[in-house]
Amino acid sequence: MKKIIIGNWKMNPPTLKEAEQLFSVLAKGASSSKKTEIVICPPFVYLEKLSKIRTSKIKLGAQDAFYEEVGAFTGEISGEMLDNLRVKYVILGHSERRALGETNEMVNQKIKAVLAAGLIPILCVGETARDESHDYFNLVKIQLEECLAGVKKTFISKIIIAYEPVWAISTTPNRKDATSADSLEMAIFFKKILSDKFGREASRGRIIYGGSVSGKDAGDFLQNGGVDGLLPGRASLDAKKFVEIIKICEVLSK
Ligand code: PEP
Repeated sequence: MKKIIIGNWKMNPPTLKEAEQLFSVLAKGASSSKKTEIVICPPFVYLEKLSKIRTSKIKLGAQDAFYEEVGAFTGEISGEMLDNLRVKYVILGHSERRALGETNEMVNQKIKAVLAAGLIPILCVGETARDESHDYFNLVKIQLEECLAGVKKTFISKIIIAYEPVWAISTTPNRKDATSADSLEMAIFFKKILSDKFGREASRGRIIYGGSVSGKDAGDFLQNGGVDGLLPGRASLDAKKFVEIIKICEVLSK
């Protein structure tokens, strides 16, 4: 299975012109990549224009999707609408959305809706802080179990699970670096939870890491962190930095 690098642009950049420029430079930088799946998740409003920029290497993802198909849901966007724009991936349950009130139950409904629309969910889970009694293991277990409740076995290999410890994300005040050992420990823990719940099918799904990933540590996470890919936020807004991460992944995939 190919490794995957997913850029989360969040609410950036401020103008369409800048978004088109950044995407074009990324597309050029990624043009020689062969072994890495590359995804960019821009704000909704840029998706249509970016889908017209020619690149066979970069796929588009959205940063959210609603769980209803159509109707009176002001401000929401459905999976089908995204599918119409040739979007293939959807980030769900990001910690920044959870901080605005999104619950595991909502994320669960969104995952099912996105799968039904034929898209690939990128489910984000991760603890806000680490406590000495290791209660954070329990917290991520609950996140995984509640977000994946009722998801059919046949779908589990399609879902990408991103471990994103909030304490390591670049915008978290007093943040700390997570290590590849932290990532490896969680990846093993996730695999156990998933195989208990979904059986052997679970081993075909991908687990990735996100939290201030840069060219300095991307190789370490990919080699020693037990993950099949990375989810850079801030680094995906800098074409040079993002392409550097892709190139590291390419070299390691040889
Ligand atoms: C994120 O919030 O998904 C993220 C990983 O951001 P950053 O790389 O900026 O920490």
